[in-house]
Amino acid sequence: MQKPFNCEDTMKDIVIIGGGYAGLSCALRLGARVRKQGLAARVHLVSARPVVVERIRLHQRVAGQAMRERALDTLLAGTGVRLVRGAAEDIDVQAHTVRVDGEVLNWDRLVLAAGSRTDLQAVPGAAAHAVSIEPDTAVALMQRVAALPPGSRVAIVGGGLTGIETASEIAESCRGLQLDVRLVAGQRLAADFPPPARAHLRHTLERLGVQVIEGQRVVEVAADHLCTHAAPLPFDLCIWTAGFAAPPLARHAGLSCNAAGQVLVDPMLRALSHPAVYVAGDMGAPVQPPGQPLPQGCKSAMPMGVHVAENIVRELRGAAPDPFDFALMFYCVSLGRRDGLIQWADAAGALTGRTLTGRRAAWFKEFICKSTIWALQLERRGLPAVVWKRTGQPALPSQMHKELEPTER
Ligand SMILES: Cc1cc2nc3c(=O)[nH]c(=O)nc-3n(C[C@H](O)[C@H](O)[C@H](O)COP(=O)(O)OP(=O)(O)OC[C@H]3O[C@@H](n4cnc5c(N)ncnc54)[C@H](O)[C@@H]3O)c2cc1C
Repeated sequence: MQKPFNCEDTMKDIVIIGGGYAGLSCALRLGARVRKQGLAARVHLVSARPVVVERIRLHQRVAGQAMRERALDTLLAGTGVRLVRGAAEDIDVQAHTVRVDGEVLNWDRLVLAAGSRTDLQAVPGAAAHAVSIEPDTAVALMQRVAALPPGSRVAIVGGGLTGIETASEIAESCRGLQLDVRLVAGQRLAADFPPPARAHLRHTLERLGVQVIEGQRVVEVAADHLCTHAAPLPFDLCIWTAGFAAPPLARHAGLSCNAAGQVLVDPMLRALSHPAVYVAGDMGAPVQPPGQPLPQGCKSAMPMGVHVAENIVRELRGAAPDPFDFALMFYCVSLGRRDGLIQWADAAGALTGRTLTGRRAAWFKEFICKSTIWALQLERRGLPAVVWKRTGQPALPSQMHKELEPTER
């Protein structure tokens, strides 16, 4: 028979997969709690990459801007968190093991925080002829952009925030290359945003010289053009930002997932099908909104990571885990380095007519990007710096009734 998790006389192993916003927030908070409270637990962070990947800045990298790289082992030094370098595979939810480059790790609690990638499989030809913005493609993509001859057509597919940020960044930073940047949206641009915000996005993109093509769903990507229901759209380089998929790790392990491969989680952020597995960040899909519908992004990934850490601490101390509670405050969109859009939400999480635009919005967005790293640096010193607004009305386990469809950033 399995011993209870809070058994005080045995050391517990907590394995966290993924060194992104969610995984790092979880590891640093857990490491600090274990250190300070003398809990009988070892924390292992499995990371496929040796550095902290600031994914929210990858479009800046693609546009040729320099990024500061921070080594993970430096960030984790002195925290008690053991860094395991390599890609996790073969999770065994019965035996409580996971394999990382030949090493088998045992776990008492597993935290899945392996993020997501752009889904290049949803449209025929996208995987062969388009490039998505990922930690392992950003530098090569930057080099391809920089090598384009003047007048080249860069098609950016996806009218969501990632497409908008990428188009504006390339148009502004690569002005000298005289590129013809086109942003192709299947629906309207930022379709969920209120009209004043959408008007600012459109106006700024046009000011930067981006041609915005709305309402043209791409049905296939050929070697040099996009096929839509209207006329073909030729390109010299196609950057795909539409849709996302979680890594297949969880589905292969037999966890219940939605169509995007995200693990279905209960209000405590435990996998519905396997409660010894917690999920944080893009990989998790709460079956009941945690207070409010959960927007994908580092704004929710870091709170989820910290909440999972606190729930594991509660379990280690013999208490029941708490439901996650999250309230959306705002969306931040960068539009190059000199403009931006801050879109506020009301108390119920609905987007309002209130926005901040222009240079002050660009500064605010830059501050938010920097603050993610500052928060991690404070967490490593044991200061709880990842904070978020709550509704005060989290979902309760008894209220679970529906499966949410994946929602993109
Ligand atoms: C260009 C761009 C701009 C964005 N801008 C914003 C923004 O302004 N605001 C916002 O809120 N969101 C933004 N997002 C979305 C945001 O980046 C993600 O929602 C966020 O990174 C999710 O955090 P995460 O920790 O879940 O995953 P990630 O940050 O993706 O981290 C997951 C980590 O797990 C690692 N990993 C994956 N598989 C394995 C494995 N098998 N073993 C070990 N490690 C593994 C990955 O290498 C990665 O380091 C942006 C995304 C992009 C692409």
